[in-house]
Amino acid sequence: MVLRYLHFYAPRGLRVARAQGQYIWDLEGRRYLDAHTGHGVAFLGHRHPRIVEALREALDTVMVAPPGMAGPWLEEMLEALTPLLPGRMEYVTLLNSGAEAVELALKIARRVTGRRGIVYFTGSFHGRTMGALSVTSSNPLYRKGYEPLIPGTRRARFNHPEDLDKAIGEDTAAAIVEPIQGEGGVNPATPEFMKELRRRCDEAGCLLVVDEVQTGFGRTGRVWAHEHYGVEPDILAAGKAIGGGFPVSMVAVPGWVAEKLPPGFHGSTYGGNPMAMKAVAAASRVLVEERVPEQAAEKGARLRGILEEMLEGARVVRRVKGMGLMIGVELRLRPDPVLRCLQEEKAILALKAGSTVVRLLPPYLLAGKDVEALARGVADCVLRLQGG
Ligand SMILES: *Cc1c(COP(=O)(O)O)cnc(C)c1O
Repeated sequence: MVLRYLHFYAPRGLRVARAQGQYIWDLEGRRYLDAHTGHGVAFLGHRHPRIVEALREALDTVMVAPPGMAGPWLEEMLEALTPLLPGRMEYVTLLNSGAEAVELALKIARRVTGRRGIVYFTGSFHGRTMGALSVTSSNPLYRKGYEPLIPGTRRARFNHPEDLDKAIGEDTAAAIVEPIQGEGGVNPATPEFMKELRRRCDEAGCLLVVDEVQTGFGRTGRVWAHEHYGVEPDILAAGKAIGGGFPVSMVAVPGWVAEKLPPGFHGSTYGGNPMAMKAVAAASRVLVEERVPEQAAEKGARLRGILEEMLEGARVVRRVKGMGLMIGVELRLRPDPVLRCLQEEKAILALKAGSTVVRLLPPYLLAGKDVEALARGVADCVLRLQGG
């Protein structure tokens, strides 16, 4: 019998040999500019020296320690994270994936409020586990065949503040939102929507869960995308970029939430392991010292500016959208040929979002020439689609 791998994703026709900074090399030695970064994970660049150093330190000292027996790496991480977390967040815990962070956020909301309702939005993506999937609606195929999912969820329209009074009520434990929907198509929330969501949650006594698994850690030009809106979460979920490439996720809550959680209310074998904590500490220091959010804002604006200029008037383009280095080019057609053209002809890796969007999630350390190559490559491949 030949053992084969059960793939969840369609193969991209590329075999990776190694990666460094903003580049990936395939087995033939061809170099690609990486605007995929493993769905945004390698936002600090591949193998950032500070992350490699931190992980090496861990490998040389400790790889495994039970969650109740943390060493100095715990304090080190808390200290590095403190300046990055929103003011009211006094507690943080680590898990292993974005979906797990969302699961915990939903569990906390139910536990703390004693209510069961969870409101989520059209176009949302929060992960593929049963709980996270129950509040995901970006693609009906993700849910197909898995129902019944968890009861008590209710879907409302994204960016329709007028619907929130009705959608959120006395039985609502939480509303969960992405400030910019990633998987669903790079759709930024409107300021009115975020403000009304915060107001309605306060009024109805439900917790606002902000899922920053994709938008967080500097990508949008602020440490957290919710900062653009002046709206603070009650529960913050993060993942992807926070470990500088190491698989780890995080949930942060204010003191008044943490106080209502008894010992043993959740558990995770790998959650908060020494490797993950060292990685998060190192990534946090890099974010501050290298002014990562500021660089993402500057380079994102430049990338977007060139793209908009080159694509102006293009019939196949609906709009260019996003914030910082989270950019979507929304087309009137499927984006697959553009992604193929980018990979094969321009040696650029990008990804899809929704059914019509080319999504760019490059690392913050792009050089000026990378920004130009990326913009030109995308514009060329998009324009080719319309035969222009
Ligand atoms: C990727 C993503 C998740 C799920 O993260 P996994 O690590 O794949 O479980 C959840 N929420 C958002 C917004 C994401 O982009």
